[in-house]
Amino acid sequence: TASLFAAVEMAPRDPILGLTESFNADTRSTKVNLGVGVYFDDNGKIPLLAAVKAAEKTRLEAMPPRGYQPIDGLAAYNQIVQKLLFGADSALLEAGQVATIEALGGTGALKVGADYLRRLLPTAKVFISDPSWENHRAIFEYAGFEVDSYPYYDAVSRGVDFAAMKSGLNALPAGSIVVLHACCHNPTGADLSHAQWREVIETIAARGLVAFIDMAYQGFADGIREDAQALQMFAASGLQFLVASSFSKSFSLYGERVGALSVVTASRDETARVLSQIKRVVRANYSNPPTHGGAIVAAVLASAELRQMWKVELAEMRQRILAMRVSLVEKLQGRGVSTDFSFVTRQRGMFSYTGLEVAQVDRMRDEFGIYAVSTGRICLAALNTRNIDYVADAIAAVL
Ligand code: PLP
Repeated sequence: TASLFAAVEMAPRDPILGLTESFNADTRSTKVNLGVGVYFDDNGKIPLLAAVKAAEKTRLEAMPPRGYQPIDGLAAYNQIVQKLLFGADSALLEAGQVATIEALGGTGALKVGADYLRRLLPTAKVFISDPSWENHRAIFEYAGFEVDSYPYYDAVSRGVDFAAMKSGLNALPAGSIVVLHACCHNPTGADLSHAQWREVIETIAARGLVAFIDMAYQGFADGIREDAQALQMFAASGLQFLVASSFSKSFSLYGERVGALSVVTASRDETARVLSQIKRVVRANYSNPPTHGGAIVAAVLASAELRQMWKVELAEMRQRILAMRVSLVEKLQGRGVSTDFSFVTRQRGMFSYTGLEVAQVDRMRDEFGIYAVSTGRICLAALNTRNIDYVADAIAAVL
């Protein structure tokens, strides 16, 4: 008899992780991977932050037992995450209007939130930005939603087409779920201004939409508090909304899978009921989160000394990316390219939508061993003082 799996088709490769597989197989010593969304230091290494190292050393020496965590994770972690998101003096927190669970990275937070919303709003549709992080669509589709997009990026201005975005949001049916990037929009690097956020919040309130805010890069644009500005504005609006947050980038803890799902409700009583339902989702998926990553983040944030160390290290990452943006633009100008690349310094976070076309991206890979996403997205955090000239040469050559 035929195998149970005889007719199974090969799934397409993940576009980003597939790129890394090709990069790893490339034998050229000059190769550069600009595809992945990971911060590398100037030596091309993923940093282990000194604040993290110190907290890990303490934890390791204590040799804690490895019992199960509560379903919603470490209470101290959840409380400290809430303060980081909404501010230590947040009226919402004071009023008990936020339910937070420790999640498996930002992805896990999105997935638990999606599963929960699917039960709360079974007929709603989900709208993501055009374009968006490629996993947004998959996460919400796997939760059972139909996923569509709202206009966002304008390739001509290389910024947000805000008029189109607003009219797109205004046309959505009440109860639709809108996924928004809090800062450092992935993949475009184009963020909303504060005034535009205000208009988006007004539109969401007027249309009865449900905001699900994804904040994967807090601290990578302007600073920890500055990057949470959109959240503060939502918090002040009186709306209910969801937030998926992640420490993968801001703590350089990618593989530890540390994130959180926060749900803002109308009252302490609602918070308790919503939390009880979210815990059911978690219980039926993975039961409870792992111990290490959340304990480390909580320890760093709870210690004035380690927290300060972390802030400095995060600022260094942010400033290094910015320096690479400025340097790339200068080096391209220096090579006499006719395209004005100054937009690269206006884009925020790890990425730039360079405007490079598929054929140009292919040539960079084939002729130079430089790997970028076919959409022309590059990760600025993969550039360093040793490879940036080579990358600038390659871009100038394929333009
Ligand atoms: N959301 C966005 C916009 C991202 O870019 C990423 C990571 O690339 C995530 C969520 C997921 O982060 P994590 O690795 O913490 O799951």
